[in-house]
Amino acid sequence: MPSGSAPRAMAIDAPGPAQVVPLAPGLLWARVALPLVLDHVNIYLIEDDGGWAVVDTGVSGPATRAAFAALLSGPLHGQRFTRLIVTHHHPDHIGHAGQLCADHGLPLLTSLTAYLSCLTLLSNPSRLGDGFYADFYSRHGMAPDVAERMKGWGKHYAGLVGAPPTTFTRLLAGDRLDIGGRVFDILSGDGHAPEQLMLYSRADNILLAADQVLLGISPNVSVWPTEPDSNPLGHYLRSLADLAMVVPDDALVLPGHRQPFFGLHARIAELRAHHEVRLSELLGACVGAQPSVADLVPVLFDRPLGPGQLAFAFSETHAHVNHLLQSRQLALADAAGPLRYSAPRQAS
Ligand SMILES: [Zn+2]
Repeated sequence: MPSGSAPRAMAIDAPGPAQVVPLAPGLLWARVALPLVLDHVNIYLIEDDGGWAVVDTGVSGPATRAAFAALLSGPLHGQRFTRLIVTHHHPDHIGHAGQLCADHGLPLLTSLTAYLSCLTLLSNPSRLGDGFYADFYSRHGMAPDVAERMKGWGKHYAGLVGAPPTTFTRLLAGDRLDIGGRVFDILSGDGHAPEQLMLYSRADNILLAADQVLLGISPNVSVWPTEPDSNPLGHYLRSLADLAMVVPDDALVLPGHRQPFFGLHARIAELRAHHEVRLSELLGACVGAQPSVADLVPVLFDRPLGPGQLAFAFSETHAHVNHLLQSRQLALADAAGPLRYSAPRQAS
């Protein structure tokens, strides 16, 4: 794969609260603050028939609601929203969807997986029981007192996401979506979130990339307890390769966080290389040892982690372990106590 020219952030100041920044004719950039380590999400507004289509929302709650109201009373005064497109089911992208659609009478367009994932995670967070998460993390070697703190993890989502609208319009990879006369190819990627949607305008060579490709940070790729044998890193790497086949290197990339940029192919090459390095570091740590996933977390994250960060760090480490298991570079060495892994080829 050609690596293209180095990634280059668009030389433009990010929008502050109640501001929009024009990126192209009929295409605006706004931001909504997040109460998370990553403190903002990018919102894109695409000129539509009679107003602006909104892409993504931020988390649920009065602050997000006020942020959208401030756009309509400020830079978009006298204008209206026409519809909401949500790229994936993570709280920072879908959290406020139900309320935004209700407030403005908007239809929701998203992937089937995003819609159903959101409904499932909200439907009955207690269904799995308090022990479900703690048992899973203990089984993978997390100290009992730390695993105990994961008990409420299943309820985390519902704290950041409101109920989505009762109806939605499905967007599927391969669809073409006309927004105000500008046609977008609907693409989907996996690994960060299942069936994450991206919108690509061939005519304008602009990619709304959601969180599939970000500048300066590597999108989280996680194994979750409800799908313990999943290989999201394999899916992520494959999706990156697919994206580079479809979208040219000189496209303007509009990501879900941080700065718009150019140099898609080089950024994809960087992300692939980043994961290759981490895979080989993990493999090296398994030679002559039989670590659990918990033992391997410090190999990838050599800094103190708070409970929320630990869940993501653990799940990201797990994603690398599962990828190595699927490619038979690691094997399960011991299933009696915590699950432990070995690197049979390197050890022989
Ligand atoms: Zn995000």
